[in-house]
This record gives sequence, C-alpha cells and structure tokens, in this order.
Amino acid sequence: MGWALDLDGVMWRGDRPIAGSAEAVATLRAAGETVVFVTNNSSSPVVRVEQKLADMGVDAVGAVLTSAQAAARLVSPGARALVCGGEGIVEALRGRGVEVVEPSPDRRGGGAVDVDVVVVGFTRAFDFDLLAVASSAVRAGAQLIGTNEDATYPTPDGELPGGGALLAAVATAGGATPLVAGKPHPPMVEMVGEMLGGAGTMVGDRPSTDGVFARALGFRFGLVRSGVTPQGASVSDPVPDFDALDLGSMVGSLVP
Ligand SMILES: [Mg+2]
Repeated sequence: MGWALDLDGVMWRGDRPIAGSAEAVATLRAAGETVVFVTNNSSSPVVRVEQKLADMGVDAVGAVLTSAQAAARLVSPGARALVCGGEGIVEALRGRGVEVVEPSPDRRGGGAVDVDVVVVGFTRAFDFDLLAVASSAVRAGAQLIGTNEDATYPTPDGELPGGGALLAAVATAGGATPLVAGKPHPPMVEMVGEMLGGAGTMVGDRPSTDGVFARALGFRFGLVRSGVTPQGASVSDPVPDFDALDLGSMVGSLVP
C-alpha cells in the first residue's frame, strides 16, 4: 500500500528536520510500502525539495509531488501564463510547455498583460504592483488558478501568511473565483491517485487540508502533532484513523 506524506510539520518544521521522520520512511520502504511526498508548497523547484530530503537522509528523487505540478496540469500546453508565485510554478509550467510571461517593470502598476491564465502561489516578492498586474489580467478574462489556499504556513518562529492569503488578494481585486490545485482539491487527488492507486495512508499535520485530502483519496488519515495541530487539541473534521506525536511514533506503532 502507499503512503503519502506531507512535508511541513511531518518531515520538517521550516529548516529543521523532525526527529525520527527519516527513519520512519526507511522503515516503511523496508516493509515494501511505496512512499511519496505531497506538499502544498509551490515556491521551491522539485530538485530543491528532493535535495532537502536527501540532506536528512531520504532518497526522494521522483517521489515529490507539489501543488505547482498539480496547478500546471490545469493549464494547456502552449497557453500563456502570468506567474504570481515562486520558481517552482515557473518550472512546472515550462515543463508542460506553457509560455511564462514576465510583466515588464514599466508595465507594473496595473497595465494589462495578455495571458490566458494567472497562477498564484506563495512568494515573498508579492507587492502592490504585482497584485495590480495579476488582478487586471484576471479582470480582462484570464483564468485564475491557485496552487493552494493555505492561509498560513508554519515556521519555527510561528505562522506566516501563506499562498492562500495572496490568492485571496488577487481573487478579490480580480473579481474571480479561483480554481485551486493543491491539497485537498481534485488536481492533487488525481496526481496522488495515479501514483499510489486507490488505497493508502495520508499523513499530515493539518486536518482541513491533509485530512480532507485523505478522505477525497479514499485513504486512511494519519494525524501527527508535530506541526500546526498541538498535542491535546481535539480533531473531528475528519476524525483521524491514526493520531500520533510524530511520524516516527506513528510508523513505530504500525510497522513493528
Ligand atoms: Mg503540513
């Protein structure tokens, strides 16, 4: 059976690996399980995510699925796209044969760009001028796609605004309802289903994304308390099938 593992709050918190998680992946693989890593983070190119896992001793080449890849599946090859997000989105779109259009500096401030889609994900380079360009393209008819709608993301210093907060700004100013690609939405469900089939376990730290995603896949939901859901907090939507302090203790209790 397959295991789909969230990254932030399961494998690491920010840049700090969570103790026992790398060993848990090795235990699952030794037991014959297929493991993939599923993240709503769309800003990093896949090779950087693979390298970050390699740095903690996990071979993840070909096993990383990002919301940027899920978003790219929604865009037709040959289409023109404006990216309001990170490098990971640009990479995924180009890999699919989509033309990524850069807003030239003199067109910032609201001048329309002629694109078919606007793809929004997390970026620290988000500012008023980019919001103006992206939202005017949407008002001019471009389709609005969000890699994810996470309101925040966890860091060792607390939560920071996530891609969903930026997407909400573009959607509001653009007067459009976005199509969202990442967990728990259908594009990511299809990607994971294609890799793992119809049965497995999804492990994550956020019931509203990882838990709902598990249910959409028809998978068991393993909740870990090493991310945004604190120990002791009651979780009912959905009720986890497994509930553990972290991935290491969850796998330790299931795979002796
Ligand atoms: Mg997480």
